[in-house]
Amino acid sequence: MKSSSEFYHALNIQTDLCIGCSHCMRACPTEALRVRNGKAELINNRCIDCGECYRVCPTHAISIEQDDFSQIFNYKVRIALIPSVLYGQFSSSFSQNDVHRALITIGFTDVWPVEDSVDYLVTKINEYTKNASHKPVISSFCPAIVRLIQVKFPSLVDNIALIRPPIDLTASYVKSKYIEEGNHNSDIGIFYVTPCAAKIVAVRRPEGDDSSDVTGIINMDFIYNKILKVLSNGNNDKNGEPDSKPSLGLRSSSWALTKGEAASIHGKALAIDGIWNVIEFLEMVENEELTGVDYLELRACDESCAGGILAPGNRFLTAENMLRDANSKVVWSIDQSMSRIKDYQKRVEDIANLKPLKPRSMLKLDEDMVRAMGKMERVNRLMCYLPGIDCGVCGAPSCVALAEDIVQGNGALSQCVFLQKIMENNKLNPEHSFRIMKKIWGENRFKKDCDKPIK
Ligand code: SF4
Ligand code: SF4
Repeated sequence: MKSSSEFYHALNIQTDLCIGCSHCMRACPTEALRVRNGKAELINNRCIDCGECYRVCPTHAISIEQDDFSQIFNYKVRIALIPSVLYGQFSSSFSQNDVHRALITIGFTDVWPVEDSVDYLVTKINEYTKNASHKPVISSFCPAIVRLIQVKFPSLVDNIALIRPPIDLTASYVKSKYIEEGNHNSDIGIFYVTPCAAKIVAVRRPEGDDSSDVTGIINMDFIYNKILKVLSNGNNDKNGEPDSKPSLGLRSSSWALTKGEAASIHGKALAIDGIWNVIEFLEMVENEELTGVDYLELRACDESCAGGILAPGNRFLTAENMLRDANSKVVWSIDQSMSRIKDYQKRVEDIANLKPLKPRSMLKLDEDMVRAMGKMERVNRLMCYLPGIDCGVCGAPSCVALAEDIVQGNGALSQCVFLQKIMENNKLNPEHSFRIMKKIWGENRFKKDCDKPIK
């Protein structure tokens, strides 16, 4: 699933492990996968890095890239930028400071929670929502949702809040503090611990923006194992992490959970999680069936970031741990909050807004409008012949997807087994038909093999 130069993706399909079972193709919400020659193939401009394919692959043929951990040692100042979801992976017998100290033990020099910028962010979002001309305003927090809107709901792109997410705000804030303390920019390495693939892409290729202060990405499941090893062996460096580092308040601790954002919005805000629920909801917004809503918090994963594909813990237990922790937080005084918000304003206000986002319609069949209309007509004509039952045997997830592939020169009507049956009487004999099926599903699929994976 490697990127083209235009579209970068963090997921890779290891073809040697792929058995062409098509589970991923059926799970993909944007019809970004096909099975060809018995292997899954990605259509780059459709993929939104939601990771649904990763969840369902029975052979772990889909992997997620990350930076080499040892690169943190190229920097004098090595900051772990961690989302609150990481704390939620551990049982209550380990405190947040235990997690911080373990991160210091494995090589970081400082630890900073991503949601540190949330109080500042709330003021930005409320101001933005109050003045927005496109309602409901849609949160830009979840990068998979931003991409989903760009590719599947291009008419709603202007509803996305043009505000950078907490990762970027906190990274810029921390960097500014370290530079103020006399460190050189090139000595500071900020490493984000990610619970999902979409955030890897968001950091490497930020939407609507051209750079991020995050230096590298470490996957959460990888770092979790390293931390757990330190905690289990009792090797934690008790002196490593100063306890005075920023501690999250109630609002910031639950920000990454479902309703975390919505609870802080002035006006009517709704929170929806799970990619298919979000799609259903966006269809309502697109059809103007939703009125009187000011703000939508939309998250691709069930239980939001607690359900991220790289978060090792059970999502419900993680959310429960995080809520328990959030509720035990001391509520900051207004003075404390205001002084932190002002400090953030001073350091990150000039980078806090995203540049306007562009649609990236997956349905765009051609750059040229007239040719695109012609192709759309052909798709419609082809649909008169295709059965419309979306069986997936052709190696495309739906009949419309096959029709679009044909129009784009990436498929043939003969891939449809039902049409083959009709064509049999005319020109397509069973041998030819078998050759086509072998091309889609691979030679071995039709060999007698009692050990064939059946998962
Ligand atoms: S990451 Fe999501 S959009 Fe991309 S291929 Fe997998 S399921 Fe489809
Ligand atoms: S789900 Fe099946 S077709 Fe998709 S990558 Fe995994 S093995 Fe290949």
